[in-house]
This record gives sequence, C-alpha cells and structure tokens, in this order.
Amino acid sequence: MESRNWGGNYRYRARALHLPTSVAELQRLVVSCRRLRAIGSRHSFNAIGDGAELVNLDELPGELTIARDIDRGTGTVSVPSHLRYGALADRLAAEGLALANLASLPHISVAGAVATGTHGSGVANGNLATAVAALELVRADGEVARLSRGEPDFDGAVVALGALGVVTRVVLDVQPAYDISQHVYEGLAWDALFDHFDAIFSAAYSVSVFLRWGERTDQVWLKRRAEDPAAPEDLFGAHPAPVDRHPIAGLDPVNCTPQLGRPGLWLDRLPHFRMGFTPSSGEEIQSEYHLPRERAVEAIDALRHVHAPLRELIQVTELRAIAADTLWLSPQYGRDTVAIHFTWAPDQAAVERALAEIEAILIPLGARPHWGKLFLARAADFVDGYERLGDFSALVRRFDPDGKFGNQWLEDHVFGAE
Ligand SMILES: Cc1cc2nc3c(=O)[nH]c(=O)nc-3n(C[C@H](O)[C@H](O)[C@H](O)COP(=O)(O)OP(=O)(O)OC[C@H]3O[C@@H](n4cnc5c(N)ncnc54)[C@H](O)[C@@H]3O)c2cc1C
Repeated sequence: MESRNWGGNYRYRARALHLPTSVAELQRLVVSCRRLRAIGSRHSFNAIGDGAELVNLDELPGELTIARDIDRGTGTVSVPSHLRYGALADRLAAEGLALANLASLPHISVAGAVATGTHGSGVANGNLATAVAALELVRADGEVARLSRGEPDFDGAVVALGALGVVTRVVLDVQPAYDISQHVYEGLAWDALFDHFDAIFSAAYSVSVFLRWGERTDQVWLKRRAEDPAAPEDLFGAHPAPVDRHPIAGLDPVNCTPQLGRPGLWLDRLPHFRMGFTPSSGEEIQSEYHLPRERAVEAIDALRHVHAPLRELIQVTELRAIAADTLWLSPQYGRDTVAIHFTWAPDQAAVERALAEIEAILIPLGARPHWGKLFLARAADFVDGYERLGDFSALVRRFDPDGKFGNQWLEDHVFGAE
C-alpha cells in the first residue's frame, strides 16, 4: 500500500499496515493492538483514516457468491466491505440488479464510502449509506457484531467514521436494473439557476451543476430514468452540449461516461467517470459542504462575491442535491441538502487559506463538511451541529471503551464539540 492518500495531499503516519486474510485473523489482530484504524481505498483527503496502526481488508476473500449473497426476497446483497463499487456494480448488473445511486467515481470501497456518508445526487436519493440494511463489524473486544436497520444502535453505526470497529460485511438494498440517459446543458445563467433552483434539481433522477464561478455556470448534467420527464430542448436558457463533455471544461471527455442522451445501464451513467480511467482531474484536493436545501441559493450567491481571489485555485465546483436521512452522523441527518463541492488545484497551503474564507461564509449558514474531504472546521464550530453526537459518543464508548479505534482527527473534528 502507498503511504499517501489518492489525492497525494496526506501522508499516513501509521507505523504498521496489517493485511489479514481471514476474519478470524482480523479478530486476533484487533484484540492484540492497542490502537488500530481501518483504511479502505484511501480516497479521503484528510487524516480521518490514519492511526498508530492500520488494517486494510483487501486480502480478505472478495468474491460475491450469487446464491449465498443475493437475497431477491428481501431485495438485498451482502458484500465484503472492501469491495469497490465498480466491481459490485458489474456483479449486480450481471444479475439484472442495481443500486439506487453511486458516487461520481466507482473506485472507492463500500466500507469507506459508507463510513463517511459518501453520496451521489438526486432530490429523492439518500446518500450511499442509506442503502445499508445491515452490517457486521469486529468490535474492540474482537467479537463480531451484526446490526440491522430498525435496531436501536443501527442509525449510529452506519456513518461511523471508522470509530466503532472494523466493518467486514455490508448488506445493501438492491432493485431491478434500470437504464439512465445522460444530457449535458451548457451556459445556465446565475439568475436562471437561482430562480429555478428546485425545478433544475428536480428535472431528473440525478442532477449535477458544474461551475467555475465565472460569468455563468458551466454545465448541468441530467441523469434521467425512463419515468423522468423528457429532457428539455432548453433548460431555463441553457442549451444541450453538441458533444460529450468533461465536467472540467476543456479536459478530454474520454474518461467520462457517455452523454448525448444515449441510454445505458445505471452503472455506466450514474458515475461521471468510467472505471479503469482516472476519475476527476487526477491532480487535486477536494472539499465539500452540505447546506440545508433552503439556504443553498443564499450560500452559493454569497460565495460568488468572494470568488475572485479563489478562482485560480478552483478547478471546478459541483452542486448536488441529497435527500434527508436518519443516520446520526450523516451530513444529511434530518435535512434535505445541497452539497457545494470544490475540486482544488493541489496546493495544500493555498487551499487551506481559501477554506478559511469559505467556511466563514458557509458554517454560519448551517454547513456540515463532507467527512472525507479537506476542511478546517472543528466540531464545536458547526452551528447546526449533529444533535445525535452525544448518542454516537456513548455508542463508541460501549463498543470501544478504551478508544482503540480513535485517532487525533476524530478528537479534533468530531468529539471536540462535546
Ligand atoms: C476522485 C474522487 C471523487 C470522489 N467523489 C465523491 C462523490 O462523488 N461523492 C462523495 O460523497 N464523495 C466523493 N469522494 C470522497 C470519497 O467517497 C470518500 O473519501 C470515501 O470515504 C472514500 O472511501 P475509501 O474507501 O477510499 O475510504 P478511506 O479514505 O480509505 O477511509 C475513509 C474512512 O472510512 C473508514 N473505513 C474504511 N474502511 C473501513 C472498514 N472496513 N471498517 C470501518 N471503517 C472503515 C476509515 O477508517 C475512514 O474513517 C471522492 C473522492 C475522490 C478521490
């Protein structure tokens, strides 16, 4: 394993990386270590996954056995937690099944994505963690615990930031496979975005707006299911792109999923980037803030007026909508959300200066940062914090009384608010 994260902006300090080949070996490891953090595919942009010692589950068996793991009666699939969404999607598609949503890239592990509340877009779509029906994890005492939806601890154990134990299996909701067609519109004016914000984000199953804080927005990506309204010829003044586009205007769309309304299976359209290709720009740092949907226009408009000194650093901004949920540490807990995402040039010090300015605007409006991306705010700063944080802390103390799975990042950014 590389000692850096995918973005290259964080070097792990852990002195050991363990790669158990069975759950029994993992259980023995957990008992024998004083401090241990699980690490997934290392796509987070901060120290959330670091610790004194790390464990990665990539050497555990990773196959899906259709007869054993897919339950068509309950509409679920049980997956090894280290599986990448891309591999999982291929297996499900071969069985005529689908997930409700995907993130913009298929390269991330299921456990890592779920642990940080990773999301796609869609006003009616929850984040990826909301598809979890049950999970199994190795607790600090080495015992395997299984938690299922509806049980008292479950809502605290899904978006758990690695703090409860090492997740080994995840049971996910599935549905019959469906097609998506993708249309890209260009040149949406700011006024049109603000005046028709809800209509634009409700125009398709999944909607993303890309912009670089210029005279107007850059692109609107509509990902439509068959039952969605027809793709409009004109989207509030924005026009269909004549050829496939990359979300970062000017980059070659060769690594992007097909557009121009050509229908394809869900897994070939929901991510912006194709498996096997570099997602996004490849040289970047990312940050993202989740606003209550009713404050989104105000927040975006406020950012427009401070953008000038930041413009050089921002490769692209993406706006997405995510539905409210009940998972205690989910950035969408209790509120429909609009996520404002920044793909930054890879200059950590300059990005941190920009983040100070951005957070001064967004945190007072109720922003909650994406747990897996770069942010500065400490938990105590979140004005619209996590009302179940106390319950989460109690759950962590019960599962892990000696703080085996803790790290400094959690102390600084999560538990510090208590
Ligand atoms: C190019 C790119 C595009 C992205 N696009 C999106 C996007 O569209 N939407 C979005 O919301 N996010 C996006 N992200 C962020 C990404 O989804 C999150 O950082 C996610 O956590 C990455 O998963 P991972 O497996 O790499 O996790 P890691 O970074 O390896 O770990 C993240 C957390 O998960 C925990 N964890 C990992 N495995 C386990 C386990 N087995 N048991 C318990 N805890 C575990 C770790 O302890 C840590 O706390 C993107 C990131 C990149 C680099």
